[in-house]
Amino acid sequence: RFITIEGGEGAGKTTLIEELARLLIEQGYRVLTTREPGGIPIAEQIRSVILDKLNTKMDARTEALLYAAARRQHLIEKVIPALDEGMFVICDRFVDSSLAYQGYARELGIEAVRSINDFAIDGRMPELTLWLDISPEAGLARIQEAAGREINRLDLEGLSFHRLVRDGYIELMKRDPDRIIRIDAENEPNVVLNEAISIINERFRG
Ligand code: C5P
Ligand code: MG
Repeated sequence: RFITIEGGEGAGKTTLIEELARLLIEQGYRVLTTREPGGIPIAEQIRSVILDKLNTKMDARTEALLYAAARRQHLIEKVIPALDEGMFVICDRFVDSSLAYQGYARELGIEAVRSINDFAIDGRMPELTLWLDISPEAGLARIQEAAGREINRLDLEGLSFHRLVRDGYIELMKRDPDRIIRIDAENEPNVVLNEAISIINERFRG
């Protein structure tokens, strides 16, 4: 049972994942929560290269390849072993982030980015992806309010970039409507959580 959570900045992915894990564990499931890029040392190292404020020269294709590399290592080292043990794996971002950010918003092309990711993930797609949709204005306002949140190179992108990311997710959802389910993330956290858990329970019942 492989679930990914997607969405732009300030959509509430981290909070939702913590709460989902708590509920699923209450229901008797074993749950692994993790995040991309990162989740294991090699991938966290790649993450810090990508997000380093000093790496202003990074080319968009280089960035896409680094995300794909981090994704593969994380998948092989952490996600697949947990799935093989029968755990629920809930991952903060996966392939769709690369397709929306690098493919669509950075204009590398969804299909080009998909092809390097196909090589990286070798068929291991999530069964369910929850896309937390929030307007870029509301999302950016939330991260500016959140004290103590570390600001990285990509957080400095403007509103127009984040609008493109959102358009990218809309496009992905149109292409894969059975897997990618939109949740309105401007609702209260509790409403978002209830919607997410009912989608998950419906999808994985029995
Ligand atoms: O999910 P998280 O907020 O930790 O993502 C870290 C940063 O990486 C964010 O600024 C996000 O916009 C960016 N990102 C990206 N392309 C991806 C995944 C994340 O630009 N494929
Ligand atoms: Mg985040």
